[in-house]
Amino acid sequence: MGKSTALIFLILVGSLMGNSVPIHTSSVSVDVGYQWIWDEVATTGTSDINGDDVLSWGSSLGAYYNSTEIMYKLNDAKNHFPDLVSVFEIGKSYQNKSILAVKITAPNTRTLQVKYETAVVGNHHAREAITVIDVLLYMDRILYLYSEGDSVVTNLLEEAEIYLVPTLNPDGLDALYLNPWIRKNMQPIDDDGDNTTVDQSEIRDVNGDGYIAQYYSYKYGGYLFEGVDGPDNDTFAGEDNWGGVDLNRNYPFQFIGDGSSSNPRDMNYRGPAPLSAPETRAWVNFANNHTFFTAVSLHSGTEAIVTPWSYTDKPAPDQAEFNYIVNELKKKSGFLEWSELPYSYSTNGEWGDWMYGVDNTLAVTLETYGNNAALHNTYYDGKSATVGVWDRFNPPSKDMIDHSNSLVQPMIDFMVTYPRSGSNYYHKLNGFTLEGNRLTLTGQSEINNLDVVIQYRNKFQGWTNIDNSTVDSGVFNVSFSVEGFTDKDMRVFIGKGGRGLGYQFNGLIDIKGEPHVISYENNTLPFEISGTDISTINVNYTLTSTTTTSRSSLATTISSIISSLIPTGESTSEKSVIGIFGILAAGVPVLFVIRKRKNS
Ligand SMILES: [Zn+2]
Repeated sequence: MGKSTALIFLILVGSLMGNSVPIHTSSVSVDVGYQWIWDEVATTGTSDINGDDVLSWGSSLGAYYNSTEIMYKLNDAKNHFPDLVSVFEIGKSYQNKSILAVKITAPNTRTLQVKYETAVVGNHHAREAITVIDVLLYMDRILYLYSEGDSVVTNLLEEAEIYLVPTLNPDGLDALYLNPWIRKNMQPIDDDGDNTTVDQSEIRDVNGDGYIAQYYSYKYGGYLFEGVDGPDNDTFAGEDNWGGVDLNRNYPFQFIGDGSSSNPRDMNYRGPAPLSAPETRAWVNFANNHTFFTAVSLHSGTEAIVTPWSYTDKPAPDQAEFNYIVNELKKKSGFLEWSELPYSYSTNGEWGDWMYGVDNTLAVTLETYGNNAALHNTYYDGKSATVGVWDRFNPPSKDMIDHSNSLVQPMIDFMVTYPRSGSNYYHKLNGFTLEGNRLTLTGQSEINNLDVVIQYRNKFQGWTNIDNSTVDSGVFNVSFSVEGFTDKDMRVFIGKGGRGLGYQFNGLIDIKGEPHVISYENNTLPFEISGTDISTINVNYTLTSTTTTSRSSLATTISSIISSLIPTGESTSEKSVIGIFGILAAGVPVLFVIRKRKNS
């Protein structure tokens, strides 16, 4: 840390950020006092040894990052690039560690500009530590290119809000040096069914060969790890392993199925219920508060590209678009699509299916690295055992930057920039005018039924609709009322099915107008509610006169009406009104947005 001048030797292989990012092959002197990950790895990665060397490295994980090092790295980035980087916690792990996210975006410089949201998450599975490096390297690359004045990255950061979560599983990551087999989180589960919910195994390299052996136990009908008898003194080691729940089987979408296990000892244990793990709850809460156009989740163990659906062979509704994305990613990496692998399997409760099926995000899972040959057989305690798991999932540290630069980074680049350059580029917004309380937009659409939505940023719910319209293919011209919002970030969101681009206004729209409140009498609303989609019901109403009542009493009335719309048999407890947002002014159309209360 603390180099004042870092001599950067960057060899960025492949085509980055679309067509026109320069490939740096020369050395450049950058004086920002920030330690780039490739410099750090160059000094800490040289002592790499073969085998399950994570044991030899100890809790620092050598050139790899533990959760403390990730925290320092993100805060260091924030301190050196305060205009671009913010760091925040999306939730806590089971062991109460911060699950950190970094947001990277450049300040607005244009009056009306695209700001879309995209996300990259690593390390659902603890032992796949290379994925942390992939995320941190991506962060450093875009910060580096931006600080060099690279025009493509500058445009990207002005148009995108990029969210990076290096590890979703900090507990497991930090325990790897004791047991590099850990895949799940560290939430104790009663593996052996003795009604004791503490983990009863002390994993240890008993024979001192630098490996933790995994062997099959017929007594327990599952895999145990080399170790010593734990706190229960029952003379067995490994009968109640550390953790945990497979975080990538714990999402609340198609939770139950053959693609996950109900056996706590299984590596694919789905957990007792959807979102039983605090780590998946943190992600779902985070994603619910954003509108991610694209998102990437990084894994290792093999090299492959995975897109929804994972729970079924049936095509996804956007299968054609996913096919296009997969083909582009194949060109960049040479990786196979998941279904082309000879040993591919289905998964239930998986991240990508939830992101797409529930959050409508173009979600791609990348299996970034695999070395199956690293696993080999030995004997432990007289039993046939397997060792070498660290090297199966993670490259030697001297190779990790090159591997990521040549194969993984171009795929992350593609997904992050896809909303700007994808084949299915939906529309263009040409301009806007503001007159009185009317905002008029002109643009061009290539598809029919395109949603044009005016939104403001709500502290609790992210971007919240104020008014909307639908346009068809061709040149469009739509206008909205924007009265009353004098102190909020506002944007125009254009897309279809909730997926699209948000054009953010630079600064605030301040149109003078007195806010008014609406009235109702005898519990009868002076307008109609249409639609039975309980997740979002739009109420359109134009005030004809100004009268008064409170928003909360109006909410109570609308709540009871919504309850009457809910199909018989569905719980009504989740369906309360949590917000009414409207422009309350005489003679102006009003849109109330009523959302289902999220369960998380
Ligand atoms: Zn994985």
